[in-house]
Amino acid sequence: MFEISLIPAFKDNYIFVLSAGRRAFVVDPGDAAPVFDHLQAADLALAGILITHHHADHQGGVAALQAATGAEVFAPADESITGRTRPLRGGETIKVLDVPVEVMAVPGHTLGHLAYRAGNALFCGDTLFGAGCGRLFEGTPGQMAASLARLADLPDDTRVYCAHEYTAMNLPFAQAVEPENPAIVARQARVAALRSAGQPTVPLLLAEEKATNPFLRCQVPAVLAVAHRLGAVDGDPVSVFAALRTWRNNF
Ligand code: ZN
Ligand code: FE
Repeated sequence: MFEISLIPAFKDNYIFVLSAGRRAFVVDPGDAAPVFDHLQAADLALAGILITHHHADHQGGVAALQAATGAEVFAPADESITGRTRPLRGGETIKVLDVPVEVMAVPGHTLGHLAYRAGNALFCGDTLFGAGCGRLFEGTPGQMAASLARLADLPDDTRVYCAHEYTAMNLPFAQAVEPENPAIVARQARVAALRSAGQPTVPLLLAEEKATNPFLRCQVPAVLAVAHRLGAVDGDPVSVFAALRTWRNNF
């Protein structure tokens, strides 16, 4: 398995560096400068780039990185991606630094959005966040709910490398949905301590998301009850998800 490092970028993005020996891949390089700095400091040669979706904060650094290194660019086939050499739609298995990586289609935030899974590491872009999920810029609630359900089906020990540090910002909403959930209260204290020490909350642990993230808890009675008050329909999990997402947009 490769090693994984985090590079903070912009206000709250993370770029991930996967390395084995002197070779490296990066995931979602929205900015090239901090990636060049990291590669130089760690004496790494860039072999490839994985892109989850087309937004500029995820692919803005690709042109400069590819021009300097000739790196392969693995990216959604049906989105506008700079320098893409390996178009993907989900369902493929690719090799990253000799490790097999499963490509998953997770539409919702964007229509061609991909997640990449290697062992117990999941790179999910802007689909699942700490105590939250991505906004629906292109997809339907049904698509996003199905994508999140596929991620929730992964093993509990999955480490979730999401592309933004949003956990502290999302937890007050999780608590508003489930004021009686002690796991959310406990997580708020842990996250506050991490953030005040300047530490990331990423990678997330999937088991903790299942216990505290309202968007992975659309079947839990307390969450169902709240969603029904917001107008969700009985027996329709997509309407439960949609009601929560709409509330979150206005929270
Ligand atoms: Zn995005
Ligand atoms: Fe983003």
